[in-house]
Amino acid sequence: MSDNSFFIQGLKEYGFDPTDDQIDKFNRYYELLIEWNEKINLTAITEYKDVMIKHFLDSVSIIKAIDMSNVKNLIDVGTGGGFPGIPIKIMFPDIKITLLDSLKKRLNVLDLIIDDIDLSDIYTIHGRAEDIARLPQHREKYDLCVSRAVANLSTLSELCIPFVKPEGKFVSYKSEKADEELEGAKNAIKLLGGKVSSSVSFELEDNIRTLIVIDKEESTNKKYPRKAGTPGKEPL
Ligand code: SAM
Repeated sequence: MSDNSFFIQGLKEYGFDPTDDQIDKFNRYYELLIEWNEKINLTAITEYKDVMIKHFLDSVSIIKAIDMSNVKNLIDVGTGGGFPGIPIKIMFPDIKITLLDSLKKRLNVLDLIIDDIDLSDIYTIHGRAEDIARLPQHREKYDLCVSRAVANLSTLSELCIPFVKPEGKFVSYKSEKADEELEGAKNAIKLLGGKVSSSVSFELEDNIRTLIVIDKEESTNKKYPRKAGTPGKEPL
């Protein structure tokens, strides 16, 4: 088996104390991702160390930005290969997790992975965020919404903030260009009932990562999100 001491060390630096079972789950998740990636595009990076750091450690870095102890349920918008939702589930098994994506075949693989690594209380939903966020069973129902590598912050805010309960949070995983994006998204965040609470930057394997934390202060106006495609084409 590959040496994974760097990964365990990374988790410990974030304050986790991973069990053998959690590490086994990450290793198996890696194997399955690589196996399925031959048929369905789930990840551009495939080297063991890269995946463990740039996907898995990056996903659970949310612990640097917010207190996860009050989070009972979470939705990951545009989960792709399961990031950040599945690594968060492995490290926070008590949180109920919903993985949303508009590409069904990716979700089919995630269902197999979830089953294989024996995760419970984690569900996949197929659809566009613009449509799913209008359904009463999902609108303003989540303590936390997370999203990584899906859209610019202005568009993403319209896709994500409607899912969040008033007093809940939306955390966007960004790179070093986060400040520019933040500036351009302030109006959208306000219109959607959110307020930027913090922006936490840190280095991960020579890359600057930034977690933007948005607090939901008010209920989102029913006109948002606009119809599928519009948030991307005409950001607020
Ligand atoms: N979050 C993953 C990550 O960090 O590796 C995947 C990122 S991938 C570049 C973007 C994903 O978002 C794709 O799987 C795509 O199908 C999904 N997506 C894009 N727009 C979406 C929308 N409006 N609603 C739901 N999923 C969407």
